[in-house]
Amino acid sequence: MAGRPTSPAEIVNPAAVMTLAMIQSERWCLLDLGAEINQEHVVIQWCARRRLLRNCSTCGSCNLPKHVTNYAQNVESKRRKCRACNTTRSIRYQSFFSRSHLSLRQIIIFLYSLCARSANLGYRYQTCEQIPL
Ligand SMILES: [Zn+2]
Repeated sequence: MAGRPTSPAEIVNPAAVMTLAMIQSERWCLLDLGAEINQEHVVIQWCARRRLLRNCSTCGSCNLPKHVTNYAQNVESKRRKCRACNTTRSIRYQSFFSRSHLSLRQIIIFLYSLCARSANLGYRYQTCEQIPL
């Protein structure tokens, strides 16, 4: 019974999805973060474990799980697909990243840099115009 392996319904094993307390207790430095998310498929898993992307999704028409499939035409090379009705949707759907054209890696590194700079300056949040050069 050989053949193509079926695509998974989840990005990562559901047991690997972190709790909010686990996420909040993490500490990263830019060097480690850059090494951790150095490939797009790894970034997708990294985001799913930290609840930045939905780990699984259900088709709104069929109420069946959508599977993660390869899709070369978008930046992550992955989409979710319903096997019953063949509809597809971005893995970024209903996430913070949904309207961006940057790669997930670019966004995470940018946000890390912004947060690190803000923390070093003693600010919790500032707009770009408020950060001294
Ligand atoms: Zn469907």
